[in-house]
Amino acid sequence: MTAPASGPATAASGKLNTAEATVFAESTTRLAELGRNFYGRGWLLGTSGNFSAVVRREPLRLAITPSGVDKGMLVPSQILQVDENGSVVDGSGKPSVETALHLAIVRLRGAAAVLHTHSVWNTLLSEAQAAKGGIALEGYEMLKGLEGVRTHEHREWLPIIENSQDMAALARAIEETLARFPKTHGLLLRGHGLYTWGNDLAEAKRHVEILEFLLEVVGRMRNRVQR
Ligand SMILES: [Zn+2]
Repeated sequence: MTAPASGPATAASGKLNTAEATVFAESTTRLAELGRNFYGRGWLLGTSGNFSAVVRREPLRLAITPSGVDKGMLVPSQILQVDENGSVVDGSGKPSVETALHLAIVRLRGAAAVLHTHSVWNTLLSEAQAAKGGIALEGYEMLKGLEGVRTHEHREWLPIIENSQDMAALARAIEETLARFPKTHGLLLRGHGLYTWGNDLAEAKRHVEILEFLLEVVGRMRNRVQR
């Protein structure tokens, strides 16, 4: 991309200044790497899953994965830049259909990165636990990988939201859930997947790893108990 000149004029017109353009370029590289990494771990097979990273807060610019792209072959040039309404301002292609959900989480949580996976375990457990409205992750050492958690004696309640193809309705449901559970590090969409976030991309990645690990542990444990 061409790097616009920095200065007040670019801020007023909404274009990125040089430093912000660098942030966007770095974000595209890191999101593409993350896509290939998570694909290799089976967390977003096919064209599933999507990622975003905040490039600038005011006015908001988000680097986000495009719709319908195989994450195992994701390259930086495919990453799009969208504004606070989810409209593409840089790049070609359609942004993820779930862009509104990313925007809701960025707005309500002040997150700098939002990651969404479709793993086997998050799909299974979000379906199996739907009637309870969530899943408790409790007593595990790995909980300490979640931001602000210092001990295994932590109870993480991952709320489960009914899935929908109506993204505006789903974004509203996410907003209500985040207001109800201000301390949660993530949420599940029923039979669909996990959303988590972080104060930077590294923290969001760590949260995916921790939550996917714990969901698999809980899922395997239940399977053993039931046998
Ligand atoms: Zn999804």
